[in-house]
Amino acid sequence: MKRDHLFRRRSTRPSGYRTEFSPRIESFGRVHCALDFDLANLAMVQVDDGYVAIDAGSSPKITMPIVERWEQLAGGPIRGMIYTHSHIDHIGGSEAFNLNDVPTWAHVNFSDEIGMSQLLPNAYFVRGAKQFGYALPAAEVLSNGVGPPMRLYDTGRTSIRFPNQHVKDYEETTIGGQTFILQSAPGETCDHLMIWLPDQRVLFAGDNLFEAFPNLYSIRGVPPRPVRQWIDTLDRMRRLQPRPELMILGHTAPVQGADKIYQVLTDYRDAIAFVHDSVVRGINAGKSPDQLSEEIRLPKHLANHPYLQEHYGTVHGSVRGIYAGYMGWFDGDGMNLVPLSDREIAGWVIEDMGGRDKVTARFEQAIYEGDLRRASWLARMRFANAPKSSESRQAKATVLERMAENSNNAINHNWLASEAALLRGRCSLPNKPKISGELLENIPIEQLLALLPSRLNPRTSAKTNFSLGFDITDKKQQYTLLIRRGIGELASGLIDSPSLIVRATERNLKRVFLAGDIPPTQREFWQCLEFEVPDRGLLSPIQRLLRLARVSRLFHRA
Ligand SMILES: [Zn+2]
Repeated sequence: MKRDHLFRRRSTRPSGYRTEFSPRIESFGRVHCALDFDLANLAMVQVDDGYVAIDAGSSPKITMPIVERWEQLAGGPIRGMIYTHSHIDHIGGSEAFNLNDVPTWAHVNFSDEIGMSQLLPNAYFVRGAKQFGYALPAAEVLSNGVGPPMRLYDTGRTSIRFPNQHVKDYEETTIGGQTFILQSAPGETCDHLMIWLPDQRVLFAGDNLFEAFPNLYSIRGVPPRPVRQWIDTLDRMRRLQPRPELMILGHTAPVQGADKIYQVLTDYRDAIAFVHDSVVRGINAGKSPDQLSEEIRLPKHLANHPYLQEHYGTVHGSVRGIYAGYMGWFDGDGMNLVPLSDREIAGWVIEDMGGRDKVTARFEQAIYEGDLRRASWLARMRFANAPKSSESRQAKATVLERMAENSNNAINHNWLASEAALLRGRCSLPNKPKISGELLENIPIEQLLALLPSRLNPRTSAKTNFSLGFDITDKKQQYTLLIRRGIGELASGLIDSPSLIVRATERNLKRVFLAGDIPPTQREFWQCLEFEVPDRGLLSPIQRLLRLARVSRLFHRA
């Protein structure tokens, strides 16, 4: 057995899911759908003197030519925009449309979902980058399971036009003579809409159904998804009257024919319900997530279903996601109440096995025999024991590459291949884009200020007792951030005579203080913010600079 052969990087060819995409527009009377131009589909409905767009793609650069086609087909400009939900692949291209004074509809939870992502911006960025393969050379990312790869950071700036019309439960709106019924449809997200055109018998299902098993949990990291409501949403789609004749999906091809649509919706909801209910039964029977993820398999008629292949979501990942959503991390085994770390275990195991060389030999044997689960455990021990050693890193990368090769799930493939490439130092993550001004402007100021305690640096603020007041002049709102020895509290009002008060309009406070768009070296910076110390009045520029430096030392940059 030759070691070099075992450790050499092999190209990872995915199997089982689509890697060939042909961008095209499919037309169904007055409804048109742009498929395979981008990860998500874009669609439009012709109305009098123009069209209503459903979703906007991931980036203006990709969306621009589609907008031109929409205008040609409709013979007029955009009259309305409807976002199915707030994921970037559906809204990132919105600047390609002229949405000024155009009704732009979304779910009432739309801004909250986007605002929430700002609590964990670094984690979402890094994990999203692995899931979508942004770090890998473009030629190595072949698919996202339900559509072509998304190259968010290669296609220029991504900004978002925010909605100006909101749906809580149900709205009917008529645009250019066409009636649109917009209904809350929680599922993949809590801000999903289903769009129903009863006269045309056309349903837009968003990402609550496509031609792959859904992500009931997403490995890029998401709060528990509302699985029971998801089933209910699909049932409401099934019971629409008159029955839909055309169902446009957020990803993969439209479904045609009332009987087929009903059958696909039924099978899809049955698969989600089966997984959900099996986990619930298992939890009640005292089973652990390990046991459940080993045991739960879709019934045969669903496992072989073309719409339920695990190219996007996985059954075992969904089982663990649902378990964690209901029960949290603890599996109910007392032995795991204070779990051992891999580093501790590796210390003993490696010694018991006769040292690192013996572990490496076993690892090589496992790779040679194609036993990837054993190889991955041995590589994991090796890595936990000596994470900086090149041999540990190569061993781990080797397993990750073999697992990527064998995966028929595009998301897992991208993740495994990205992690391997990063370990080998073959590539690096792209730079995290700065939060755009428009995004910031649309997140309520109180939601942004509420993030500040989590941005505190516990080391530099460990001995600090300090309070920072915010006087938002145009909104007539005031807040105080109290810092007590490394812990922050945001309170309403100016309380406990703050050590320093920052006074600004909402927009300037967001741009200058929270986004850092304008550095203190610019005159504009000083025109936007006023700093005041109670009892001592306004501060001179030099005093302001010193105070600001002191305050910024207390925070991590996110
Ligand atoms: Zn999507």
